[in-house]
Amino acid sequence: METEKSASRLALKQHVGIYKQFYGGIILNCQSSEELQALVNECRDYAKQGKVADYIPALKKAKQNDLSISIFYPDGYGFSAGDCQQSMTLQSISKVISLALAIMDRGVDYVFERVGQEPTGDPFNSVAKLETNKPSKPLNPMINAGALAVTHMIKGANVQERLHRLMTFIHAITGNDQIKVNEEVADSEFKTADLNRSLCYFLRQHNVIEENVEDLIDLYTKQCAIEVTCLDLAKIGCVLAMDGVEMSTGKQVIPHEIARICKTFMVTCGMYNASGEFAIKVGIPAKSGVSGGILGAVPGKCGIGIYGPSLDEKGNSIAGVKLLEKLSKKYSLSMF
Ligand code: GLU
Repeated sequence: METEKSASRLALKQHVGIYKQFYGGIILNCQSSEELQALVNECRDYAKQGKVADYIPALKKAKQNDLSISIFYPDGYGFSAGDCQQSMTLQSISKVISLALAIMDRGVDYVFERVGQEPTGDPFNSVAKLETNKPSKPLNPMINAGALAVTHMIKGANVQERLHRLMTFIHAITGNDQIKVNEEVADSEFKTADLNRSLCYFLRQHNVIEENVEDLIDLYTKQCAIEVTCLDLAKIGCVLAMDGVEMSTGKQVIPHEIARICKTFMVTCGMYNASGEFAIKVGIPAKSGVSGGILGAVPGKCGIGIYGPSLDEKGNSIAGVKLLEKLSKKYSLSMF
């Protein structure tokens, strides 16, 4: 009760004009609330216990100790703390967005005839279950095999048109048409994505996908390399939190039912094979990526974006998860 009161006091503080309005997608001012900055300071040291992802060479350049957070409210106010000017690539967070677009393109039945809806305890890029599951279909859209199958379903005449549709969709969700693909990261992953290529060949052998593998890897690596800030992530989270409505325009940019499906996958498989523990400790639908980003959607309340490139052994931002844990506890954000 007391924490709820202090949460709304914190929200109120934003509304009296301490923080600038972020419509238009530009961070006008990155001043942070003292409370939020204090949480960042408390958690930053955890970064030392993790490791920046290096299997995609371009990701090695990230600064291990960076940590930042943005929170975005449905009425258009937001605030940030930490190294919030730092951008990141979406990596696996993009899987939530491509899933929404693929369902919008093909319908729920089509998508889930080809990709399952169950969590897996395996690593995100594992090939094991593809072989042992019969019929051979990826277990869910948040692991790489499932995400590749989902990206395959995005409609368009060629890679360029499909990417353009995905970018237009992200621009509409974030209200930020400056978001672009980081070509260096995309290229770096494209050159080293042999494990993902092998997943594609497996999927093609089993008729889950039909297209040329190089084209699909091209689109997928570009999708993963879409570059955003914490604030962009928080805005995406806010749209999901508000059941698909982008509040500044009032537009239903993601159908309600599809936003619900995305949030459900975020709860059951959004944090790799740490999703169960995360649901208990944090209780916020969330999706992480190996760049160190975490997208959070607090149903009906706000969106959260985190950046902390130092990862734990499961691939989640080590300091970012701690930050969400503390935030959720302090402001009673768990949905359970
Ligand atoms: N592009 C990365 C890959 O497919 C995304 C992985 C992730 O963020 O979990 O390996």
